[in-house]
This record gives sequence, structure tokens and C-alpha cells, in this order.
Amino acid sequence: MARKHEGRAVGIDLGTTYSCVAVWQEQHSRVEIIHNDQGNNTTPSFVAFTDNERLIGNAAKNQAATNPQNTVFDAKRLIGRKFSDPLVQSDSMLWPFKVIAGDNDKPMISLKYKGQEKHLCAEEISSMILSKMRDIAEEYLGSPVKNAVITVPAYFNNSQRKATVDAGSIAGLNVLRIINEPTAAAIAYGLDKKNDFDGERNIFVFDLGGGTFDVSLLTIKGDVFKVKATGGNTHLGGEDFDNRMVNHFADDFKRKHRKDISGNPRALRRLRTACEKAKRALSFSVVTTVEVDSLYEGIDFYSSITRAKFEEINMDFFKECVRIVENCLNDAKMNKSLVHDVVLVGGSSRIPKVQRLLEDFFDGKDLCKSINPDEAVAYGAAVQAAILSEGFKNVPNLMLQDVTPLSLGWMLEHNVMAVVIPRNTPIPVMKTEEFYTALDHQSSVLIDVYEGERTRASDNHFLGSFCLCGLPRYAAGLPFNVCFNIDQNGILTVSANEILSGSKNEIVITKDNGRLSTKEIEEMIQEAENYRVEDKKFLRKAELMNELDDCVYRMKNDLNLSSEEYQQINSLVTMATHLLDADDSQTGIDVLKKIQRNGEE
Ligand code: AMP
Repeated sequence: MARKHEGRAVGIDLGTTYSCVAVWQEQHSRVEIIHNDQGNNTTPSFVAFTDNERLIGNAAKNQAATNPQNTVFDAKRLIGRKFSDPLVQSDSMLWPFKVIAGDNDKPMISLKYKGQEKHLCAEEISSMILSKMRDIAEEYLGSPVKNAVITVPAYFNNSQRKATVDAGSIAGLNVLRIINEPTAAAIAYGLDKKNDFDGERNIFVFDLGGGTFDVSLLTIKGDVFKVKATGGNTHLGGEDFDNRMVNHFADDFKRKHRKDISGNPRALRRLRTACEKAKRALSFSVVTTVEVDSLYEGIDFYSSITRAKFEEINMDFFKECVRIVENCLNDAKMNKSLVHDVVLVGGSSRIPKVQRLLEDFFDGKDLCKSINPDEAVAYGAAVQAAILSEGFKNVPNLMLQDVTPLSLGWMLEHNVMAVVIPRNTPIPVMKTEEFYTALDHQSSVLIDVYEGERTRASDNHFLGSFCLCGLPRYAAGLPFNVCFNIDQNGILTVSANEILSGSKNEIVITKDNGRLSTKEIEEMIQEAENYRVEDKKFLRKAELMNELDDCVYRMKNDLNLSSEEYQQINSLVTMATHLLDADDSQTGIDVLKKIQRNGEE
């Protein structure tokens, strides 16, 4: 039995476009979705940098059009990927912020903060969003939050999962567990409906979000939630539909005005915001307008789009979703007629055409829309967080059994992929297999680890490599063991040892696909702390300036100041502001306080 963790624990759905945080409320025996300072249950996964501050969430998204190069979103599309990944290359063309290649081909976001160029990796951006979600929870709960369960798309690979754990560590969070988004949604659905279930129930979760698409087939029997198969595309979601619409209207603009907006980040950002709004509207009406004042070179843009046109330009994406659903059922060897409930999750599952295609695929079955598609994932994560923590009462007593989304193995002679753990194997799992040396007097074996479904190892996703060295120089055929171990977070460790000589030679993959080293993580934790301090300083300054403005205003009215006196005070205020701006110096703050005290006296 694993030790439970002390302290408050929350569930965080770290989404591509929006994030959501939730907590188990024992007094009501249910999950509370925690709203942010704007009263919203979801917070945009946006981070922005300006000349004097860092913004996260709504504040960052709201200023995106005026500061496009320094406003970062979609970090989840970069996390755990290489710069040379074709998907990173094609995304970078559409993002207004700059992505460059860092060490080990790691994509780095290049930004300007306080007038200086900064390079940040996706883990750092995600850690900032996680910190924001923790702040939201702490504000609401009135106590520190140290532990979290974070969700990831079921189809996230090993590197993407590890990078998400790293993002949590940089944010100063103890990541209790990484769980799959559709599994979390199934918990929300299952707990809601458990009392209505009779015997075993097959649930199909269809989760189409902002940047990722995930499906999972689960069976729920009593308190046991078992994932049978999972599938998806970590690069398919609402953002892709927005992109298609942006391209559609950029062409429209070109046709109407003979001007190309594609190289203008500000115009693209503003058009994208209008398109996303139009896309949502098309889920409820059959035609909508897109209006952007002064879109480019002072030209106003007005146009309209029908639901049919929107469906036409995205039909290949929608069909891909259905294909993935079919594959998942095939993997689980389950006929679609045996599925009891098809549960919709993720904002993009509201699109009517997506729903219709899915209904048709399941032969006219009604889709379950009873759970909130934006909140279900955080809900399930909060339940799991409570189960893994100490001190929560009335927690549901459920057991979760997930699977690994991709096959894992290593490269044999002639580039053959030797699968050790096939995809959809229940996790945690540890599997050891015996292999033999191929050459006489071979003193070492190079173990290249891959994940994926192709028979040629090099066609799969390379995870890392290590050497089993110091083998006794025997004839070919010397046996050795290779052990693959996947923990409950879906994260893999591979080790190997040679048995005949009795000498154990166990090696664990340390360098994996550009994953951050402990030292790098420590540096980033320090950096994150610096950002926090700077944010606090900025807030303190802003509050002080506000108090001062108020004080000057009151002095002017209460003391009936002459215009000369008023001028004098104002120039003192300006001087103090300059001092503050120059280096945030204590002198500036002291001057402001003095003026304030004098005013109050
Ligand atoms: P999620 O990642 O689950 O928060 O989903 C966010 C995505 O859902 C974004 O791309 C939104 O534009 C999209 N979305 C939210 N509401 C709707 C809607 N009513 N119709 C179509 N897409 C929506």
C-alpha cells in the first residue's frame, strides 16, 4: 500500500487553450471546480511578457492582440517535442511568437521581457500556468497547496509525460500522479452515474479539446475503472479548426483587398480571436459574421461564414476523429454495439457535425452530454488527488487501472523493433525479457529504446539509449535481461543486466529526448522564484501608485490646493515614479510613502 501524501491536493487539467483546477470538498462529498479572480471556472493557458511585467491567464490573453510576439499560448503543443518535429515546424509558422532551436534540438520560445531577450522552454511556460492554477486554488482555499494530480492526453508519449512532471516541479508542485484526460473524465461521469449502473458498463470517452484529441474505452464495474484501450492524436483540436478559418478569411481578405496579412502577427492574432468566437457561434447558429475593425493597413474586415462552410473546410479533421474512434474499438476488440455510453468531453465536442458523425458511427446512439465538457477532466483529477492524499474525508473508494498508449521496445539487429510492452497493456507494469549477444566476444550491447507501432525501429519515436558494458567476452549467444518498467504515471525506466557471469550491470536511461536535467530543473525553479518576486514587486508598486493617485486626488479636493501646490506634488510623484521605474529602488518607494503620509496628515 502506497503512502498517502500530506497537505492539500488539487486536480489540474492543464489544457492547450484553457486550464481548470478543482478540489475535493469533504463537507459536501463532492468536487468543487475553483473559479479564478474573474469568476471563470477555466483560465486561458496564456503567458505574456511586457516591458514591466509578466502576465498569466486572462490578463495575458486580453492583451494578446497588442503584444503578439511576447504572448505565448499552445505550450502544450511544444512540450516534449523536438524543434525539428514537422508539427513544431508547421505550428511555428502560425504562431506570432518566435520558436528557435535550443540545445539537443529542444524548441525554445524567444521573447522580450523588460527590454531583454529571453529564451524559455515549453516546460517553463507550462510551469507558469500551473503556478497560476495553484494560486487560484490557494486564494480560494485560504491555505497553501503543495500537491497536485495533473492530467495529460492519453496519447501523450513518454517524453511529453516526463516534461509535464518537470513543469510541475518547476512550479514547486509535488506531482502525485499524472493521469490521462479521458480516464479523469470517466471518473467524473462514472461517479455521477454509478448508482444508475447495473453490473459492468462499457464507457467510450470522446475528448476533443483545444489542441489534442483523445479517446478511451473503459469498463466500470462497482468501484473499479479499467481502461481497455486508448487512442488519439496529440495534435488535433479546436486550434486546428481555428487555423483553417483564419486561412479561409486571410484568402478572403486577399481577394477583396489585394493585401496579404499572413506576415502580420497582430492582424493574424486579431483575426484568430474573431474566428474562434465565430466557431463557437456556429455550434448554435447556422451562419455568423466575422468583424475586425482596422484589421490591416486601416482596412476594416467584415465577412460571414455558414456552418456548412465551416464543416467543409474541416471535414478531413472530423473524419480523422471517427477513424481514431474505430481504431480504439478495434484495439479493444469490442463491437461498437456493446458500448453503453458515449461520453463527450472537451470544448470542441460541442461542434454539431462532430456529434452527428459520432452518432452515425454508433448507429444513432444518443451521446452523453450530462457532464460539463470543460470541467470533467479537472473533476476526475481532483478525485484522484483526494484518494492519494491524507486528510480528505468521504473520498470515493475507486480503483483506477490505465493502459500504456504506445508499444515500447528496443532496436535489435537490422533495425528491427523488439516490442517488450505492447500498447494498451495495463499499467503499472514491469516486464523482463531475455536476449542474446549476436557476436562472438561481444563486450557491450547498445540499447536504443523506442516507442511506436512500426516494425522498423527507426520509424518509431526514439526515447533514449544506453550501453550495457563490461560483458564477459564469450561466444555469441550470451544471455542478458532487458527490463521495461512503466510506473503509474505512464513513465518508463529501462534497465539491463547480464546473468551468466552473475555480475549485475543495471543501467537506467538518463538522457531522454531533450528532457531537462535535475540541474536545469533546479535553475528553472530558481528562475520561477525570481519571476514570482518580480511579479510581487510589480503588484506592490501598482498598489502603491494606486494609493498615491487616490491620496493626491484627496489632497487636491480636501485641502483646496493652489495650482502651484498641486504642480509641486505632481512633480514629486513623477520623480518617485521614475525612481521606481529605474530600478524598483527602495528610494522611490520611500518617497511615495512620504508623500502619502504628508497627504494623509
Ligand atoms: P478544452 O481544451 O477542452 O478547454 O477546449 C477548448 C476548445 O474548445 C477551444 O478550441 C474552443 O474554441 C473550443 N470550444 C469551446 N466551446 C465551443 C463551442 N461551443 N463550439 C465549438 N468549439 C468550442
